[in-house]
Order: sequence, then C-alpha cells, then structure tokens
Amino acid sequence: MTNPNHETRSAVDVLIAGGGISALIAAAEIAAKGRRVAIYERQPREWLGGQCRDAFGGIFLVGSPEQRRVGIRDSFDLAWADWQGYAEFGPEDVHQMAWARKYIERCIPDVREWLIAHGLRFVPVANWAERAEHGRGNRVPRFHLLWGCGPGLVTAALRGVRRFEGGRIDLHCDHRVDELIIEGGAVTGVRGQGPAGPFEARAGHIVIAGGGRTGNLAKVRESWPRDVWGEPPRDLLAGVWPNLDGRLHDAAAAAGASLTHLENMWVYAAGVAHWQAEFDGHGLAIIPPKSALWMRADGSRFTPPILAGYDTREAVARITRSAHPWSWMVLNRDILAKEIAVQSARYNPAFRDHRIGRVAQDLLFGNTALAELLIRRSRDVVAAPTLPELAAKMTALTPDAPIDTAALVRDVGAYDAEIGRGRKLFTDPQLVSLRNIRAFLGDKVRTAPFKPIATGARSELVAIRLRPVVRKTLGGIETDEACRVVHPDGSVLPGLYAIGEAAGFGGGGMNGKRTLEGTLLGGCIFTARELATQLA
Ligand SMILES: Cc1cc2nc3c(=O)[nH]c(=O)nc-3n(C[C@H](O)[C@H](O)[C@H](O)COP(=O)(O)OP(=O)(O)OC[C@H]3O[C@@H](n4cnc5c(N)ncnc54)[C@H](O)[C@@H]3O)c2cc1C
Repeated sequence: MTNPNHETRSAVDVLIAGGGISALIAAAEIAAKGRRVAIYERQPREWLGGQCRDAFGGIFLVGSPEQRRVGIRDSFDLAWADWQGYAEFGPEDVHQMAWARKYIERCIPDVREWLIAHGLRFVPVANWAERAEHGRGNRVPRFHLLWGCGPGLVTAALRGVRRFEGGRIDLHCDHRVDELIIEGGAVTGVRGQGPAGPFEARAGHIVIAGGGRTGNLAKVRESWPRDVWGEPPRDLLAGVWPNLDGRLHDAAAAAGASLTHLENMWVYAAGVAHWQAEFDGHGLAIIPPKSALWMRADGSRFTPPILAGYDTREAVARITRSAHPWSWMVLNRDILAKEIAVQSARYNPAFRDHRIGRVAQDLLFGNTALAELLIRRSRDVVAAPTLPELAAKMTALTPDAPIDTAALVRDVGAYDAEIGRGRKLFTDPQLVSLRNIRAFLGDKVRTAPFKPIATGARSELVAIRLRPVVRKTLGGIETDEACRVVHPDGSVLPGLYAIGEAAGFGGGGMNGKRTLEGTLLGGCIFTARELATQLA
C-alpha cells in the first residue's frame, strides 16, 4: 500500500547522506565540476558542518611551512614510519594502508593548499600531539591549528555550498536516511524519514558521509576492544552527539558493504562531565596538563607514571584496567591556568575568533578564565588549600572508592622534593620528560615552570576526576582508493561510496588503532576531495 505522505525525489547525479564537513566539501567540489548534488542531513540546518562546528581545528600535515619556520625537517619516510608504528596495520589492511600513504604524500597540496585557497590560515607554530615515546608516536610536531578552529572551516565550506544552493546543490535538512535502495545489484537510492513523512530519493551515485558511530554508546560497548581496555566502564562519557549512531553503517552493511575495525575507536582518558550537557553522558575532553600528577582512583600515583601528551590509547588501557576505570589529576591553580585546554572550539574563543592578542595573553599569563570556569562549573573538579582537605573532597565525589590520603601526600611530596633538588638531578620520568618538552618553544610557552605542586606552594590545590570519553570511530565502511565501497570479498559494491569518518577517514580505517591527531579533519577534507575527483 502506498503511504500518502511518501515522497519520491527526482534523481540527481550524486546523493550524499549526512551533512558534516566531508559532505559539504564534497558537494561544493562536485557541483563545481558541473554535476548535480543533493545532501540529506537528519539534523536541522544549523547542524550543517556536523562535529566540525565544535572541532578544535587541528590538521595533521607533513613538511609544512609552519614546521620549517621553527626548524623542523619532516619527510614522508619519517611520517610514514610514525604512522605505521601507531596504526599497527595488519596484512589485510590493504585499502587502509593505501589511504594512509596517499594522505601523507598529498596532505600539503590537497589539504593545506585547499584550506589556504579557501581563505583559512594556520597558527604559525605546529603543535606536538601524541609525542613519540619508545620510538612510537609523532617524532616531530605535526598538529597544525587553524585560526577559526572547526567553525572557521565550516564557514568556508558552507560558502562553497551556497554558491550552488538551489542550483546544482539541493539541501534537505531534517531528513534521516534509514536504508539504501538496491536494484540489479547496485545501490541506486535511499529511503528515510523527512518532516513530511517517509521519503525515497535516487541518484547515479550514493555517498555515505554520516560520520562515526561513537554517539551510540550501546554500539561502542559492543565493539569495545576488551583485549586492550578490559570491560567498558559503566559510566563512559560520549564526546560526540547521539545522532552519530551508526545507522548508516548498518544500512551499508545491510546492502553488503564491508565494515572494518569498528573496535578501533579514539577514546580520550581525560574526560569530564560536560557542564552544558546537551544529552545524558555528554563529556568534554580536556587536554591533560603535563605538569599535573596523574593518580589512580585511590589517589596514589600510577607507577610508572602516566604522562600526558603521549600514547592516548595506552593511557586509556592503563586506567580502564586499573581497579576503578577513572583517574585523577592533581595540580594547583597556577599549573591549571598555564596548561589547561579543552578540545572544543567553544572553549577556545581566542583561537576560534582569531584574537591574536588574547592568545598571547593566555600564553604569557595563563588562561585563568578557563581554569576558573572548570573549577566553578565542573562537578568533576575540586579545590582545597591542603592535600588532606583535597583528599576529603575527592572522596566525597567518589565515596565508593575513598582516597588514600597518606598515599596522596606521600606521592605528591616525593615529586615536589625532586623538583626541589633541581632540574639537573631529575630522575622521575615525568620530570625528565618535562625537561625535554620545555626544550621545544611551542611547548615551553604552554608549560608551567618547575615548581612544587603542594610543598610550600601558595596556589590552591586542584583535583580533576577524569573518565574515558569516546570521540572518534577510527574503523568504518571499507572503500577502495576511489572511495567506492567494497564487499567483504573485496569486490566493488556498485553505486555506493563513503567518505569522512564514516569511511574511517579513508579506506575503512586509515589510522589503524591510533591517530597521530589532526588526521581526522585532514582525512575528511582529503576523502571529500578525492571523491569529487573520482566523480568528475
Ligand atoms: C569537540 C571535537 C573536537 C574535535 N577536534 C578535532 C581536531 O582538532 N582535529 C581533527 O582532526 N578532528 C577533530 N575532531 C573530529 C572531527 O571533527 C570529525 O572526525 C569530523 O568533523 C567528522 O566529519 P564527517 O563529515 O565525516 O562527519 P560528522 O561531522 O559526524 O557529520 C556527519 C553528519 O551526518 C549526519 N547523519 C548521521 N546519520 C545520518 C542519517 N542516518 N541520515 C542523515 N544524516 C545523518 C549527522 O547528523 C552529521 O551532521 C573533533 C571532534 C569533536 C567532536
């Protein structure tokens, strides 16, 4: 029986399911090549741009002018070795590896130059995320922050879409795609729900650009890599929105697509409950201060210490496999103000609004506004003048796992005593690492001087309870190098394409098990542009 509300849309050349940053860039590039495109986005129009609307805006680049300016000599070989060490690809990861190689080779012309041509600019010095340790990670800084952050990139991409809107680009917001139409073995259209009821739409090429599936904690738990991280914590935080629920992954799988490595997720160890939560379990990922002490749930220090800024996946494993799946950072207000950052455009107004003076002020004097906000608004943060009082407040937050005050006092005291002996005598791995970190100017300006945390310090003490916060889906819908979705046997599934996070940022997981950071937005731009070239 025909549903009276059922609408059938006329065919366009390319139909994109999802309206995040990869969809917007792909649509504008495809339209610029003379073809007709329709975007179907489940959220209202203000959501166009997807997660990128709040992204920090760091892009992984190799051999950039920003690196050269500070004397960093990077190369394909160095980056490829770092990438492989982090990704831990298996022999079956042929498409994933091919995308990773291609990204490193072409990120300057295809990503950086595209951004520059669209009016965007980078902060002059590259940041050093996921620093190498024991030869694994970034051996040089490669995280290039955009002035304007994610919202700046969305504005630029929307400008491209608006040039063609109503002409070669049709935007259908509030339209959720639920399934793919298959005719004669090829994907020819989609079915879903729009504001007026069910709809059906067809096109020559169907593209999935629906982002990841980490907004769906049930699916996250299902795919959780128990061999690495143990059982998923009961009170996991979600760092992305519930509309990123994996519905399009399921639709692709139902049509015969290969889904690969969904167990590879990017989970941050340093999450706090969002104080402006938009949904239950909404978490905010903070960039953990490097000079804070990372403590177990009972307030004792991890041994060997967990160091902030290194292998995030390993940090998560150590925490989720400890007696309780959360941790604490213990520091003081001065360190917090100097080193705190949140991975969100909303909490980085100086970078988002391109206020160079404000950035300089924060670097020189610390971001006291953000530190205050965290102390005042986050229910995971407590402050007190002495360690025993701090311990009491920490225990009040987690009464089922009381703080061992003696251990807290002992471990903070031992660390402070080593700082007191002077930097030439450091043996503590964290202090040795900090000495090294401070040798790179880009990090030195963001790192507190060597001063005791508690002993004799006049700054109030602070403890932050940290829970794992799930952010990126590193695996995804497998594609070949032309963005064509493949079946599990490797043959092409005609008519279907995938880009962006839905495609694991390229091939179904070009990052493998870990990201060197900035490869996500970079991968979205790269796959979107590659698709446009393929469909031209
Ligand atoms: C706070 C934050 C900070 C970040 N910072 C960085 C950073 O600094 N560097 C970096 O590289 N990456 C960063 N990321 C990750 C990066 O922003 C994302 O990986 C990227 O934006 C994903 O883009 P996308 O277009 O593939 O998917 P998304 O942005 O997830 O967009 C997918 C869209 O598809 C829609 N959709 C989903 N299902 C359906 C359906 N069934 N029907 C119709 N529409 C559907 C969704 O509503 C959404 O709008 C950050 C992410 C967050 C949340």
